[in-house]
Amino acid sequence: MEKLIEGIVEFRERMLPQYAQRFKDLALAQMPDALFITCSDSRVVPDLLASTHPGDLFTMRNVGNLVPPATAEGVSTGDLSEASAIEYSVLVLKVANIVVCGHSECGAMKAVIANEAGDDTPNLARWLHHAHTASFRLEHEGALDDGLNLHDQLSQLNVLVQLEHLMSYPIVRKRVLAGMLHLSGWWFDIASGNMSAYERGSRRFEIIDRSLAHRLIARLAAAR
Ligand SMILES: [Zn+2]
Repeated sequence: MEKLIEGIVEFRERMLPQYAQRFKDLALAQMPDALFITCSDSRVVPDLLASTHPGDLFTMRNVGNLVPPATAEGVSTGDLSEASAIEYSVLVLKVANIVVCGHSECGAMKAVIANEAGDDTPNLARWLHHAHTASFRLEHEGALDDGLNLHDQLSQLNVLVQLEHLMSYPIVRKRVLAGMLHLSGWWFDIASGNMSAYERGSRRFEIIDRSLAHRLIARLAAAR
């Protein structure tokens, strides 16, 4: 906590002057570019990794970057927090993009594989059910990248499954099909610091370097 408290003062004294105008402009409204769904893991820091600033990302974090699927009526089959973030960002803030971002060495994915969330963690055990489709797929269809260890293989498939869960929400599906909303699957490798994007053509997560970034941006522009 000392570090956290000192950090607040450090921000106040050193950084706030640079951000003061931005905060003033944002005080009464936000227009974020994307809903960014990622894991609660302390090593995944979206604003650092994407060089984004206050107001840029509407972020929803939870254990395992999971999105409980919706019923046909669009009501979450899990808790209501994720669905509320989706509704608010899509309908009120009108974001044009949703990114689901998984990461390497994810404790949630390790727990799914080890099946270790049990009696003393009843909430976690139930929550991780939303990753079980990914687990089933890994077992029956195999990994996207055999070179990764098992929990990272699961983590990558989990990103794709959560994108499918997003599509189970009528408000998302309708806008995606109309070209108003784009879904992306990203994956962060902690050891190398590389962020990758899922590419349907190669069925792999590819590092977002300058070359892939050009292709991704061109594709988004063409879809507009
Ligand atoms: Zn994680």
